[in-house]
Amino acid sequence: MKSRVLSGVQPSGNLHIGNYLGALANWVRIQHDYESIFCIVDLHAITVYQKPDELRAKIREVAALFIAAGIDPKHSRVVVQSDVPAHAELAWMLTCVTPMGWLERMTQFKAKAAAQESVGSGLFQYPVLMAADILLYQAAIVPVGEDQSQHLELTRDIAQRFNSLYGETFVMPETKLPAVGARVMGLDDPSAKMSKSAAGSGHAVALLDPPDRIRKTIMRATTDSNPAVDFEHAAGPGVANLLAIYQAFAGSTDDRMRAEFQGLRYGDLKKKVAEIVIAKLEPIQQRYRELTEEPGYLDRILRESAEAVTPIADSTVKLVKERMGLYTA
Ligand code: ATP
Ligand code: MG
Repeated sequence: MKSRVLSGVQPSGNLHIGNYLGALANWVRIQHDYESIFCIVDLHAITVYQKPDELRAKIREVAALFIAAGIDPKHSRVVVQSDVPAHAELAWMLTCVTPMGWLERMTQFKAKAAAQESVGSGLFQYPVLMAADILLYQAAIVPVGEDQSQHLELTRDIAQRFNSLYGETFVMPETKLPAVGARVMGLDDPSAKMSKSAAGSGHAVALLDPPDRIRKTIMRATTDSNPAVDFEHAAGPGVANLLAIYQAFAGSTDDRMRAEFQGLRYGDLKKKVAEIVIAKLEPIQQRYRELTEEPGYLDRILRESAEAVTPIADSTVKLVKERMGLYTA
């Protein structure tokens, strides 16, 4: 039996090139080597307020983008988290073995809580729900961006604690980061991670942005006071980010990057980055349009996927209930 891969994206805004390079592109690359499950994690999205109509639409958009980006629905499962109730069920059981102190250390919680007027307790519990998503399917590999490394460590801590309290139950999941593009930074502010939920038109390139918009966002990206790329001196974070975006999309080696970009003026660097991003997103946008025009297609994939994964999820919940002494009929 192949080991399992699990990962997810929140339907909390427009998917961007950070989500693509940090997560989706890696999923596409490895999906056939494993039994693969990719989730639209809507229960995570509601840890900050989402307008119901927008959330409903985003769930479908994200699912379609997974497939448009190259997730093979004949092989991999594309699942809406709230469609499989076991995610929330296991999350509660794991909440009860997770010390508050572990959650208080999470940098994502600190950053997101600071941006909210009123912080829902779901935002605090977010990493436990994520642990449940992963442990529910006994996933061995979790391909994510670098920002999720800390949550993956926590997931292993929770699994270990559960295993030591109640006996061997969970597979220990491994974090898988891409070699380049694991942390794409904001184009307007290269000190902040590119995020769906961040405001500002110059912040991110969305996967569905039209070419002229992509060009505009990248040409306006923050660089530094030097005129040109110089590999002899450490590049400022804005330039390093543009180079990383290019390298990740082109699949270039470090040597090729040096040969191609040494001495190039920032204006020309930006033009090259814009052109490769436009070229790589074009076929994804084309497939996205095609498959959203096919009536019933997406619903069928989502329904079949949920049906396929539910028995795996239910059997884990049943095992956890038995281990903990909860009632099982
Ligand atoms: P939000 O602002 O709502 O948290 P997000 O852009 O951080 O949105 P998530 O849905 O939280 O996106 O994360 C989905 C996946 O994309 C995760 O694997 C995450 O690590 C990855 N990811 C998110 N942002 C980046 C980024 N800037 N660079 C690389 N990977 C990223
Ligand atoms: Mg995030």
